[in-house]
Amino acid sequence: MRILIVEDEPTLRAQLAEGIGAASYAVDVADNGIDAHFMGENEPYDAVILDLGLPQMDGITVLRKWRASGRTMPVLILTARDGWHEKVAGIDAGADDYLTKPFHMEELLARLRALIRRAGGHASAELVCGPLTLDTRNSRLTVAGQALALTSHEYRVLSYLMHHRDEVISRSDLVEHIYAQDFDRDSNTVEVFVGRLRKKLPPGLIETVRGLGYRLTSPP
Ligand code: CA
Repeated sequence: MRILIVEDEPTLRAQLAEGIGAASYAVDVADNGIDAHFMGENEPYDAVILDLGLPQMDGITVLRKWRASGRTMPVLILTARDGWHEKVAGIDAGADDYLTKPFHMEELLARLRALIRRAGGHASAELVCGPLTLDTRNSRLTVAGQALALTSHEYRVLSYLMHHRDEVISRSDLVEHIYAQDFDRDSNTVEVFVGRLRKKLPPGLIETVRGLGYRLTSPP
């Protein structure tokens, strides 16, 4: 899952990038509204954390422009204390959730997980596919009840597939959702991660759909 963080205050931006990165998300950052708008228009983010008070273009305008052009990714806005009018304007502009500054990273991460889950049509924090259970609250995978350790990139690949189970996901989709923008992307590495996952998981869960990509399904 890949997240865009838009925050002009350097300390908070760094804290957000660190906290969200540590939770196994790929993270891109923007420090002004113009860059944020461009990135949100052109990159397939799974969610956006959007500060409203931004240089060059304010957050409400950025959000309105995204929604007007049909961008539907979940957006959580960061608002000032006592900024109830900002919350109303933000929600009316298309925000899915808000958090008032200052906030606890744990709360932000919980809201982020819920937004991503709901965007994929999942009601529960635990994603299940056959013998696999992925607890998105702590990034833990169990196979038939036994914990299985994954590297950060293996987790990102499997988490994306589990959020989109039974869908065919192309290799380029996976690349775009597991790497940050400035990462040296190589779609061959996706094959490597899928290969490693297949070795760790029970057989038959990750199908290769020739010419199209991969599909995570529970075998009959
Ligand atoms: Ca700000």
